[in-house]
Amino acid sequence: MPEGDTLHKVAARLQGMVGQPVTRFESVIPGLALVGRTITAVEARGKNLLIWFDGTHALYTHLRMEGSWHLYRPNGPWRKPATAARAVIATESWLAVCFYAPVVEWLSAWEVEHHPVLAALGPDLLGPDTSDQPLALALQRLRADPRRPIGEAILDQRLVAGLGNVYKSELLFMERLDPFEPVGEYDDSTLLRLLEAGRKWLRRNLGDGPRKTRWDVGRANNWVYNRSGEPCPRCNTPLAMRRQGALGRTTYYCPRCQQVGAAAEPPRGRVLVRGPAR
Ligand SMILES: [Zn+2]
Repeated sequence: MPEGDTLHKVAARLQGMVGQPVTRFESVIPGLALVGRTITAVEARGKNLLIWFDGTHALYTHLRMEGSWHLYRPNGPWRKPATAARAVIATESWLAVCFYAPVVEWLSAWEVEHHPVLAALGPDLLGPDTSDQPLALALQRLRADPRRPIGEAILDQRLVAGLGNVYKSELLFMERLDPFEPVGEYDDSTLLRLLEAGRKWLRRNLGDGPRKTRWDVGRANNWVYNRSGEPCPRCNTPLAMRRQGALGRTTYYCPRCQQVGAAAEPPRGRVLVRGPAR
């Protein structure tokens, strides 16, 4: 599933096309002709990809759950059917094909800056600013709606950009947080630790190979995602899955380690601010 790490890896691979003129272009956008124009930058913002041409316009793609970008040699075989291609960009040495992306748009620089999705993006955990500033900004945005369950909030790209459904379940398990608890139940240090962990794991997964949230030798690549019914790797309680939010996204968790439902009825008259369960 494409998450922030996927898109930053795609952007890194497509850097080889920067500075090269386009020799072939096809897309689902009627009438768009780019042969002869030069690719000037390739940029990931959260889970969004922008391929800039002549510095003035960008091809914007969002992969959602089903899309992918592949990079081939110009005459190499494709690993998906040509009928699934939504954009094809060739230069002298590379051929980039975008398959199944539901969003493919051609935008001017002004339109990029005012785009309803791009302009509203929260701080990108894989953005160039590696200081604490993006984390503090994301915390501020998370705090704006304290009643929102944390498992929904960290997926909202307007609050923090880059995390997708796999990281959501994995991070909340690793940090022992209940996905269904409102953001307001957690203190700043707990939320900052969660964001920091998100950034750390996204970064670790920028190399080759499958996404891993667990690097102990000989173990599985992840803790809970897609593992409902299996024993919790920490406590052996069967892992569970519940659909969450308006989109019904799957959330995997350990009912015991993450104390799911434990704070449903706090004692009367007491404000309960939760840290992680230990
Ligand atoms: Zn457990």
